[in-house]
Amino acid sequence: MSSLFPALTDGATGARPALRFGPRSLTYAQLASAAGAVAGRVRGAVRVAVWATPVLETAVGTVGALLAGVPVVPLNPRSGEQELGHILGDSAPAAVLAAPGDELPAALAGLERIDVDVTAVAALPEETAGDGDPALVVYTSGTTGPPKGAVIPRRAVAATLDALADAWRWTGDDVLVQGLPLFHVHGLVLGVLGPLRRGGSVRHLGRFTTEGVAAELNSGATMLFGVPTMYHRIAEALPGDPELVKALTGARLLVSGSAALPVHDHERIAAATGRRVIERYGMTETLMNTSVRADGEARAGTVGVPLPGVELRLVEDDGSEISVYDGETVGEIQVRGANLFTGYLNRPDATAAAFTADGWFRTGDMAVRDPDGYVRIVGRKATDLIKSGGYKIGAGEIENALLEHPGVREAAVTGEPDPDLGERIVAWIVPADRAQPPGLDELADHVARRLAPHKRPRVVRHLDVLPRNDMGKIMKRALGHG
Ligand code: ATP
Ligand code: MG
Repeated sequence: MSSLFPALTDGATGARPALRFGPRSLTYAQLASAAGAVAGRVRGAVRVAVWATPVLETAVGTVGALLAGVPVVPLNPRSGEQELGHILGDSAPAAVLAAPGDELPAALAGLERIDVDVTAVAALPEETAGDGDPALVVYTSGTTGPPKGAVIPRRAVAATLDALADAWRWTGDDVLVQGLPLFHVHGLVLGVLGPLRRGGSVRHLGRFTTEGVAAELNSGATMLFGVPTMYHRIAEALPGDPELVKALTGARLLVSGSAALPVHDHERIAAATGRRVIERYGMTETLMNTSVRADGEARAGTVGVPLPGVELRLVEDDGSEISVYDGETVGEIQVRGANLFTGYLNRPDATAAAFTADGWFRTGDMAVRDPDGYVRIVGRKATDLIKSGGYKIGAGEIENALLEHPGVREAAVTGEPDPDLGERIVAWIVPADRAQPPGLDELADHVARRLAPHKRPRVVRHLDVLPRNDMGKIMKRALGHG
């Protein structure tokens, strides 16, 4: 088996910075020592949980377990007792790795606790795990149902990070800044394991702030990874923050993922900085599937092209593949490649249902492809595709159109049963000014002018905030859909 972290064993990188979380940091040599100590503690376990707060110990604990070949189950510290109970019961970890002093909830009381000592000194173990052995069991975001544990093999981690390195020209000279949670693929695999696999470094903000992003990008960081809610905050802050403008203008790469980046935010950032955020599309189950390439055109509303090694096709309801990219025909995205998970833990039924007979993974995401191969995600099959008046309408483009209205701060679109149309389009709006929320006629006209008359909302509902999960994803289930 080849190493997941060749830079850790390479003496030349010993003094280079590897991790920085707030004021605390480790060089490669220090990380090798501390992770080696963790590896010694967990070796032989079937899997271990990591209490994934955004601190140095989470990164060191994860790397240590991976060096020992022990799969890691990252736990969301903000999960309720019930969700934690479900995940612990399902994944049965041998122990939980945590930062000294972290208070763990009652749901973890029965579990052996291993405090990660980031100053420990131990030899680096030899990595003996095979490419097909599990690296991580990551629970999906739970956007559409109870979280499922995706078993991610080591080869998928290596394949996805190397494909991103190719697409993004990501090297050991890159310094990443991010403020993402570490219990999902985005923050942990891309945002921590990614820089370490390249021999570069990551600076984690602990808590995302636009000031933190500006300070890091203005002092040596080259790349920013974020979710759309973070780029939204950046777009809002840019007009009054010259330091942030300077930071984004000078960055090598700005990457968004985990949910669709609203076109309005993409355009506002481009207007203020001259820089276009590039989008990549992935899932817990598949790691990364597509991305705009560093030297490609970052077209708003698209997630780019399949990454090297990823086969991607769009499939119609009857199972037939869409072979001509006309930018209009909607199909489900199916993918195949070394980036895929091996199955859901303890869920052979769900695993079988997720794959076609010939091994394609059904993502449940609907998309169109432009003639030059760029993928545009329309939304999720289960919650974002509205069947109205004989049309299949994606919620995303209506949300993008609504967000261009000055009276709309946030928008989510769902369908609800309608006796005439099958489903009618419902716009959930957080108004920019609560005293003057835009009404149905105005918003319907606004959408009909931009898109097409049949895409106009028939109902408008006002909310103070949209229901979102820890990744900032809109929980359409909570809006009575899906
Ligand atoms: P669950 O599977 O538990 O319902 P989830 O699908 O939100 O939750 P994740 O695996 O974290 O869990 O998220 C993957 C999904 O996020 C994708 O299937 C897709 O719907 C969405 N997504 C990720 N990146 C993008 C993007 N760039 N644009 C649009 N959607 C995206
Ligand atoms: Mg999912």
